[in-house]
Amino acid sequence: MIKEVQSQTVSLLNFHLLKPPKGNLMFEKDLLKNKTIIVTGGGTGLGKSMANRFGELGANLVIASRKDDVLKTAAEDLRKTGAEVEWSVCDVRNPGDVAELVSFTKERFGTIDILLNNAAGNFICPTEKLTEGGFKVVVDIVLNGTFNCTLAVGKEMIEQGKGTMLNIVTTYAWTGSGYVVPSAAAKAGVLAITRSLAVEWAKYGIRTNAIAPGPFPTEGAWSRLAPPGLGIEKALKNRIPLKRFGEHVELANLASYLVSDQAAYINGEVVTIDGGEWLKGAGEFNELDKVPKLAWKAMSAFRKGKK
Ligand code: NAP
Repeated sequence: MIKEVQSQTVSLLNFHLLKPPKGNLMFEKDLLKNKTIIVTGGGTGLGKSMANRFGELGANLVIASRKDDVLKTAAEDLRKTGAEVEWSVCDVRNPGDVAELVSFTKERFGTIDILLNNAAGNFICPTEKLTEGGFKVVVDIVLNGTFNCTLAVGKEMIEQGKGTMLNIVTTYAWTGSGYVVPSAAAKAGVLAITRSLAVEWAKYGIRTNAIAPGPFPTEGAWSRLAPPGLGIEKALKNRIPLKRFGEHVELANLASYLVSDQAAYINGEVVTIDGGEWLKGAGEFNELDKVPKLAWKAMSAFRKGKK
């Protein structure tokens, strides 16, 4: 009986109204025309999807990460948007590589208008089983790598008197999360950089913002964080009030808006895009959505009877 009522309750919910948008009507076609954007980690996953959307909206792109072959193939795909696309092999942990990325981009396109700090590494591990090396490698990529790129590109932007930085963090940057402590610590640091520079570098015409995505399926994230057989994917989805993962285009549209001149007054913000996931764990009474409708009726009758 309870099961029947529960399934009835769920079917009554209007999840169908909350599906991702169809079509490509959200922005002017040339929203990012003549903007040069560096996307770290732009050869795969969410970085590539965001780069693709920037390309569709008229941007020039430089994608950067460690694997030449992956970048080359991604650049060929991204050119199908009509964008000018280059790639630069760059380990963000290495300031020398980052300096080359910056000078290459300037030589090729003249300016750097936008930096998307998206490159990251992560893995799940009980914290007591972590090694110092395992902790360091994630912090080096995520926190130090973001800082290296921010510093090198920031100096160019300061000279230009304008620029926009967008950092990809995650919702556990502020809640913390077990089993991903190096990533949580590093992303919290990136969020702190975001908010600090939003204030410090505003005087140079530089805006700095962040996006905190919830779960978006990508080969990279899923292979490391939701390996098959552990039920992690199902558990991840169940936690999300909207009961689905994010679509890449939803994140890409948000990123496009935030880096565009249309968002000129948004500075120091972190925008969450997670279907309500992180708040689900935060609200004391949120688990009550498991209570069937009939039980609510009975409780209401009980309350009224007490008056
Ligand atoms: P992904 O495809 O594995 O992306 C990570 C990218 O970072 C890869 O392109 C990788 O390329 C690059 N990278 C790693 N180490 C690097 C280094 N030392 N130097 C330069 N580039 C490096 O995973 P994703 O899911 O798209 O993640 C993209 C971003 O979204 C990350 O910041 C992640 O934390 C964030 N995020 C993702 C989710 C999700 O559910 N997918 C949720 C929250 C936040 P190479 O290996 O070629 O270097």
